[in-house]
Amino acid sequence: MDTILVVNAGSSSVKFQIFAVEGEGRLQRQLKGQMDGIGSRPRMRASGSDGAPLADRAYPIEAVVDVPAAMAVAGSWLRDELNINPVAVGHRVVHGGPDHASPVLIDPAIVSRLERYAPLAPLHQPHNLAPIKSLLANFPTMPQVACFDTAFHRDHDPLADHYAIPHQLYAEGVRRYGFHGLSYEYVAKRLPQVAPEVAAGRVIVAHLGSGASMCAMRAGRSVESTMGFTALDGLAMGTRPGQIDPGVVLYLLTEKGMSAPKVQDFLYRDCGLKGLSGVSNDMRELEASADPHAAFAIDYFVYRIGLNAGMLAAAMAGLDGFVFTAGIGENSNSIRARICERLAWLGIMIDPVENARHATRISRSDSRIPVYVMPTDEELMIARHTLTLLTNQSSPNSRRERMS
Ligand code: AMP
Repeated sequence: MDTILVVNAGSSSVKFQIFAVEGEGRLQRQLKGQMDGIGSRPRMRASGSDGAPLADRAYPIEAVVDVPAAMAVAGSWLRDELNINPVAVGHRVVHGGPDHASPVLIDPAIVSRLERYAPLAPLHQPHNLAPIKSLLANFPTMPQVACFDTAFHRDHDPLADHYAIPHQLYAEGVRRYGFHGLSYEYVAKRLPQVAPEVAAGRVIVAHLGSGASMCAMRAGRSVESTMGFTALDGLAMGTRPGQIDPGVVLYLLTEKGMSAPKVQDFLYRDCGLKGLSGVSNDMRELEASADPHAAFAIDYFVYRIGLNAGMLAAAMAGLDGFVFTAGIGENSNSIRARICERLAWLGIMIDPVENARHATRISRSDSRIPVYVMPTDEELMIARHTLTLLTNQSSPNSRRERMS
């Protein structure tokens, strides 16, 4: 049976999944795996579609020094021990720049173009591209597809896409891109199956995970995002501050004498829930903590989501539905309840019983705005795009594909 490998590569970990291609282009997840501790304490874990463990192995540091080495180890495990030989590989690539409004088949010219966007996502893009480049070198005929976190937002109105800076910088690519697009795209495909009238209207989707953002969708299309030029903007996140006055960055540079790389590191790794709480970047740990700073960090997280929801509702001149997704959005009923309480003025009334049992619809039946919890599935989205481009190889630049 044909299979598709989906790869999501970060700086110290590579996540991978295998999907089997069944009749009529249906995709069935076969396994999930992850290599963690790349360059420090490499360890690969994998489980089958039923959650049963398939592997849990530690490796010497010199066996998995970087992302390409991790891919090589995982690839030979799949090939040699499980006899899985994927027909194509789909990759999550954080930045598609101004040009990519849809996934694209990889060739060397595309890789060179995507490398130019590395300064726009310095902590993600190089790691996303590393396995693409090593596969291209070692398996040059293997079809590879890049799926972008920015692509779903590329239809934004110019007003939503601009900063108030001279147009020359916009032309160079300094724009409000928005991220988490694969997650939002998945929700946009799924919502019509659950609530078609709501999906046809104005919806805020809150992707609340380690990275967090919200998207305003009208009829399933992104019209506004809380994230902008980089994935630093918008909501407070695990380790990123979200919206911050650029004057603070100038202060760090000029008054605190921090170098630009130090500021970058600070903004990506030391702020957000971690910086505010001094306890953890992990919401579970904050919710379990008795430290008042942990409580303040949660208060701040919820407060900023409320503010940004108001902004997104204003962008759409109203609201017809609200969706929670990603780690915190899918799992923390207390955070969901607190956010919904803040949004009561918009007409949201949460049902505590449905919320506690993580139902698909968690708002009261008389809530003017229905609220949903939808587990996201970015990997399935990538597998679907990969299969579609594989099937349409003759027209790889066709318009954005829709999941059936
Ligand atoms: P993600 O990046 O989507 O994997 O989400 C990671 C975030 O989800 C972390 O902050 C986790 O602490 C949080 N998370 C996962 N499960 C729960 C839970 N049951 N309660 C609260 N937060 C959770």
